[in-house]
Amino acid sequence: MSGVMAAPRAEVVIDLENLRHNVAYLDGLAKDADTMAVVKADGYGHGAVEVARAAVDAGATWLGSCSLTEALTLRAAGCTVPILAWLDPSGTDYAPGVEQDVDLSASSITQLKDIAAAAGKAGRTARVHLKIDTGLSRNGCPAADWSELVDLAAKTANIEVHSIWSHLAVADEVGHPATDAQAERFDDAYREALAAGLDPRRHIANSAAVITRPDLHLDLVRPGIAIYGLNPVPVPADLRPVMTFRSAVALTKRIPAGESVSYGLSWTAKNDTNLALVPVGYADGVPRSLSNRMHVWLAHKRRPVVGRICMDQIVVDCGDDVVTEGDEVVLFGAGDEGEPTAREWADTTGTIDYEIVTGMYRPRVARTYTGSRR
Ligand SMILES: *Cc1c(COP(=O)(O)O)cnc(C)c1O
Repeated sequence: MSGVMAAPRAEVVIDLENLRHNVAYLDGLAKDADTMAVVKADGYGHGAVEVARAAVDAGATWLGSCSLTEALTLRAAGCTVPILAWLDPSGTDYAPGVEQDVDLSASSITQLKDIAAAAGKAGRTARVHLKIDTGLSRNGCPAADWSELVDLAAKTANIEVHSIWSHLAVADEVGHPATDAQAERFDDAYREALAAGLDPRRHIANSAAVITRPDLHLDLVRPGIAIYGLNPVPVPADLRPVMTFRSAVALTKRIPAGESVSYGLSWTAKNDTNLALVPVGYADGVPRSLSNRMHVWLAHKRRPVVGRICMDQIVVDCGDDVVTEGDEVVLFGAGDEGEPTAREWADTTGTIDYEIVTGMYRPRVARTYTGSRR
């Protein structure tokens, strides 16, 4: 076999069967609510269009994206379910969104007016979700301005208010009182919306709340990370990780005791040992801060990566085991066999697994899908 045509040097494999399982499971947890699969940031690094199709296949009836551009990409790919786009800079032209039936979020009078203007331009009614800030102090309308926003929305001719909505700050800390405080503020906002003559649906639950707060499922839930099989709460849930990051051994060699490895010579062999060179590095999503602090799954074992992680390569210490050029190397995966997980990388580097998987969207890393039904 030609070496050049062998497996990609670096590849994320996206298991759509696991994704469908997760969506169906979460949809079942929130069986009285509709399910919006959140596919922002290119589906948390998994590929928004493929994920969206599989999620809809598994029972999601909504898609959630951050920017309008992301939503329009889904429409262009043939996704016909409702899509909510919730954050773009001021001055955005919402007309293409209105034309493509993208639901839009408004957190301010200015945003609502911009959306109404776009609807006027498109000669259509825009469907809007009014966002109330219940304590995250990020996106969303402050409580003090809310009654003005709902009043204006209620009397603007080409605005149809579908929902009011909000986002939780600490849903991943089970039992945290701030979640209850947010829920109370959300109730207040709902009452004000009713008083303004609106009859909106309501949504507030992210993945953590889907798993731990059935009382907050309301009309629609918005799971993101959990559809990718990563559990944000320390509560058991039947989720299966969707992404595996893998490569293959490019070169093997034996070095004598006392030789050191990689830039800075930060690791020195205590005994004669076999090394395996793997052609992935920080340009491919392996954090350099994992140098001398990570393992890979290679030839049926966890084995330490030794020496510094470079831009394009890492070195694995295999001791006296013989590994072969071309052997598969799993950088992270579901963890079922003992291979490292995205969570393990996150814990070691002081971040969250969201950042690890989302950071795998890289031009040099191939992305392939398994478990597709199409
Ligand atoms: C990202 C996001 C979600 C999904 O959050 P997860 O923690 O990944 O479930 C839901 N709603 C909004 C507004 C978001 O930005």
